[in-house]
Amino acid sequence: MALETLPSLSETVKTHGLGANKKLGQHFLLDMNLTDKIARLAEPLAGHHVAEIGPGPGGLTRALLLRGAEKLIAIEMDQRFIPPLAEIGDVSGGRLEIAQGDALKYDIAANLPAPRKIVANLPYNVGTKMLINWITASPIFWEQLVLMFQLEVAQRVVAQPGEAHYGRLAVLCQSVAECRMAFEVPARAFTPPPKVDSAVVVLEPLKTPFADLKTLGHVTQSAFGQRRKMLRRSLRALAEKSDLVLEDWLESCGVDPKARPETLPVSAFQALAASLPTRR
Ligand code: SAM
Repeated sequence: MALETLPSLSETVKTHGLGANKKLGQHFLLDMNLTDKIARLAEPLAGHHVAEIGPGPGGLTRALLLRGAEKLIAIEMDQRFIPPLAEIGDVSGGRLEIAQGDALKYDIAANLPAPRKIVANLPYNVGTKMLINWITASPIFWEQLVLMFQLEVAQRVVAQPGEAHYGRLAVLCQSVAECRMAFEVPARAFTPPPKVDSAVVVLEPLKTPFADLKTLGHVTQSAFGQRRKMLRRSLRALAEKSDLVLEDWLESCGVDPKARPETLPVSAFQALAASLPTRR
């Protein structure tokens, strides 16, 4: 048998009795046109190594292999999916490795040689946490992330200053990667449908990612933690803790003390972080 002749995904789900477990964020993509559309975003795949988080019944897994991924590690928490994934592995020419367990604890860099891409229809409950882990990794060990999130999270990744979704996640992600919205996917495309629509975003590392994401995290937390306040209010405690005179600090970074965080460009947050004394 070849990858192309595997039973349809709906048949696989039926044969293996794979009901969705909501606690694990299980909403499946059973339309191979859609999984192929996601896999295409990760091209070129030949000569590249892919980690897929939460393969479930394997729709995206199949698409990534069909598009030529040289090696694919599929990390799935729910052991019910191991037999259908093994069926894909049997016809993958040795390219598919299945790892059963929690992807949050899985060391992709240690288990998959470079060049690495991470491609996933992420479980909603842990998706943002996984993204934060990948963007704060030092050094950045991946060359591309192609990730499906609930629409609102995807909007928070790509948002620009002045937009409603602009906040911590945008500043952190855009400080290490070029971030773009690829396409939206309506809730009805999933089985079972979630309550909200989804979207796929693509992240590619900047040539010179901002180095100190930890301090940038402190600055954005203080600023966006009190979103409606002017920066001279929200950043005062952080300045005092760092033995800086607030007004001098903001002025040296070209930041208007009366500005609110959602109007500040990513570069201004970086300037604020870079001029804070390093905390151990
Ligand atoms: N990729 C499949 C698809 O597109 O049809 C399934 C996507 S579903 C949204 C999320 C998948 O992630 C489920 O298969 C779920 O069991 C798995 N999952 C949830 N939490 C996980 C974790 N911490 N580590 C690995 N897999 C996880």
